[in-house]
Amino acid sequence: MEFDEINRITVLGAGNMGHGIAEVAAMAGYDVTMRDIEEEFVQDGYENIEWSLNKLAEKDRISQDEADAAIERVTPIVDLEEAVEEADVVIEAVPEVMDIKRDTYEEIDEYAPDHAIFASNTSSLSITALSEFTERPEQFCGMHFFNPPVRMDLVEVISGAHSSEETLETIEALAEDFDKSPVRVHKDSPGFVVNRVLVPLMNEAAWLVSDDEATIAEVDSTTKFGMGLPMGSFELADLTGIDVSYHVLEYMEEELGDAYEVAPLIAEKVEAEELGQKTGKGFYDYENGGVDIPTDAQSDLVASRLLACMANQIAFLVGNDVAGPDAIDRAVKLGAGFPDGPAKLADEHGLDDLLATLETAYDETGHPRYEPAPYFEEAAEAGGFHAAEDGGTTDDEADAPDFETISVEYPGDMVGKIVIDRPHRMNTISTEVLDELGVAIDLLEDDEDVRAILLRGAGDRAFSAGADVQSMAAGANPLDAVELSRKGQSTFGKLADCDMPVVAAIDGFCLGGGMELATCADIRLATERSTLGQPELDLGLLPGWGGTQRLQQIVGMGRAKEIILTADQYEPEAMADYGFVNEIHEVDGFDEVAQEYAADLAAGPPVAQRYTKRAMKKGRESTEAGLEIESQAFGQLMNTDDLMEGVTAFMGDEDPEFEGK
Ligand code: NAD
Repeated sequence: MEFDEINRITVLGAGNMGHGIAEVAAMAGYDVTMRDIEEEFVQDGYENIEWSLNKLAEKDRISQDEADAAIERVTPIVDLEEAVEEADVVIEAVPEVMDIKRDTYEEIDEYAPDHAIFASNTSSLSITALSEFTERPEQFCGMHFFNPPVRMDLVEVISGAHSSEETLETIEALAEDFDKSPVRVHKDSPGFVVNRVLVPLMNEAAWLVSDDEATIAEVDSTTKFGMGLPMGSFELADLTGIDVSYHVLEYMEEELGDAYEVAPLIAEKVEAEELGQKTGKGFYDYENGGVDIPTDAQSDLVASRLLACMANQIAFLVGNDVAGPDAIDRAVKLGAGFPDGPAKLADEHGLDDLLATLETAYDETGHPRYEPAPYFEEAAEAGGFHAAEDGGTTDDEADAPDFETISVEYPGDMVGKIVIDRPHRMNTISTEVLDELGVAIDLLEDDEDVRAILLRGAGDRAFSAGADVQSMAAGANPLDAVELSRKGQSTFGKLADCDMPVVAAIDGFCLGGGMELATCADIRLATERSTLGQPELDLGLLPGWGGTQRLQQIVGMGRAKEIILTADQYEPEAMADYGFVNEIHEVDGFDEVAQEYAADLAAGPPVAQRYTKRAMKKGRESTEAGLEIESQAFGQLMNTDDLMEGVTAFMGDEDPEFEGK
C-alpha cells in the first residue's frame, strides 16, 4: 500500500514504547488505535500520552489546541479484532518475547485488512522470522523507534528477507511524516545498526576492565573526554540498564557466535542484581556519590581498542550490505547522540592503525572479538569506510563542498541559508561547525546570486545551545583553548564583517556560543518559545567567541554586563526590550517570516548596504573614520545604476530592482 493511503494506525502495546509511538502518530494527524491486553494498561498508556502532550504544550513545543486535538485522535482499546480491523498500518510494540509476538501476529493476520502493513518495533528479534508468522511477509518490516519516541529522531526501517520495496518506502515515508529521520537497514541483522555499534563497544569496555587492562575511570575518562562521546561507556550502561546490554549480547552471541561473549564484569553485575541507576548501583554507586569521571585519566590503549572494535562492527555492517557508512553515521549520531559518526571517527583515526590494533590483540589473546571482519582490510586499503564507498578516492574535488555539520540551502529570492545541522546535539558548535561555517560564509559571499544570509538551527529545539563543550574539552590544553577562542572569534567575525545583510532566525535555545553567533547577525528574529543567554560564567568560563565585545555593541555596556555576569537565561521579550531581538514571532509560519525578512533585505541595494555596514563598523573604532567612510560612500553611490533605479522606481511608485552596479 502507498503512503498517501494511510489513515488509521494501530499500535499494539501501550507500554513504554507503544504509548510514545501512538503519541507521535497522533501528533502527525493520524487516527490512532492503541491496544493493550488489559483495560488498566491501555488506560495507563492513554494517560501517559495525555501527560506528555500537556508537557509539550507547557513548554511551547506545540500549542494546547494541538495537544488537545492529538489526544482526541487516540482510541484506547482492548479487543484485538476491533483494534486492527480498520488499520492501514499496525505498529507492534508488545514485549520482546518471541512467543508473545508470534501469537499476536498470527491473530492480527486474520483480523487486519489485506492491504495493511505490519511494522515491528522489536529491538533484536529477526524481522524475517516475525514476518513468517503471517501470510503477508512482503507487507512486513521493522520500524525501530528509540526511547522516548517523542524526543528521539531516529527510526531504523529494517528490511526482512521478504519485505517488498513498496512496504519499506511506505514505512519510510510514514516515519518522515511523523517528523522522524528514517535510516534504512537493508538486512535483518542482530542489533540492526545502532545497537550493533553500541553494545559491543560497551562489551569491549567491560572486557578491558575484566582483563585488568584498564580501570572503569580510565575507560569512562577516555570515552567521554578523549573520544568526545556523550557519556562514559559505563555511565551509559548504568543509564540504560546493565541487564539490557546483557540480554542483547546474549542474543548476539547466540546468533553471531563467540565474538559477542559477554564480558565477565557485565555478567557479575547482572548476577549481583546491580543493574545501574534503576537499582541504585551498577558500575557507579548512586546512593554514594554517583557518576564521577575524571577528566585526566585518559588512556591511548582504551581509545585504540574501543575504536578498533567499533570499526570492526562497522566493517561487518558495510561488508554485509546491512548499511553504508553514511547511514551508519547518521543513525548513531541520531540514536546515540555521537558528535560525529562512528565510521567517520574510525576513518579519521586511520583504518590501517585500527586494523593493526585488532590484529595485535587477536594474536595476543586469540579472542574471536578481535578477529577482523573480512571487509576491514578492503576498507583500510581504500583509505577508509567513506573513501571505499566513494570509489576509493579520498580527496576528490567536488564542485560543492560536502558539509557534515551544517547545510547550505538556496530557498530563493537571492537568500543563502546556512542551517546548523546537529539537532541531535542541540546544534551545538564544534570545531567542525566553525570550519564549515567559515567555508559556507565564503561560498555565499562569492555567489553573485546571493544577496542576504539567513542563519538557522535544524529541528525545533535550538538555534544553537552553545559550544559543544564536550567535544572541545577532548584533549584541550590552555594553548589549544586560546587558539579555539581565536578561531571562533574570527569565524563569527566573518559573518559580522559580511557585506550582505545577515538575519538570524532563532527558534528555541540560543545560548553561549549560539548567542555569540546570533550577535554577529544584523537582524535577529526569535520565536516566542526561544530562550537566550550567555551562561559561560556559570561554568567558570567567559564568552570566548567575541561575546565580551560584540554584545555590548548591540545592547550597550550596562546590559551586556548584566547578561554575561548574571549568566541568566532570558525570554525573547526581555531581549527585545534590550534591543537584541528585533522581532518576536509565533512558531507557526516562523520559517516563512524569516525567509520573507531575508528576501526583503536581499532585494535592497547591495552597494549601499555594503557601504552602510562598513561605515557603521568603522564608526565603532572612531566616529571620525566612520563619518569619512560615510561621506566617501555617499559620493560613490552617486555614480551607481542602483541610484538611478531607486529614484526612478520611487518616482513611478514601483518596486526597484537593484543590480548592485
Ligand atoms: P513494555 O513492557 O513497556 O510494554 C509492552 C506492553 O505490551 C505492555 O503494556 C504489555 O501489557 C503489552 N502487551 C503484552 N502482550 C500484548 C499483546 N498481545 N497485545 C498488545 N499489548 C500487549 O515494553 P516496551 O519497552 O514498550 O517494549 C516494547 C517493544 O519495543 C519490544 O519489542 C522492545 O524490544 C521494543 N523496544 C524497546 C525500547 C526501549 O527502550 N524500551 C526501544 C526500542 C524498542
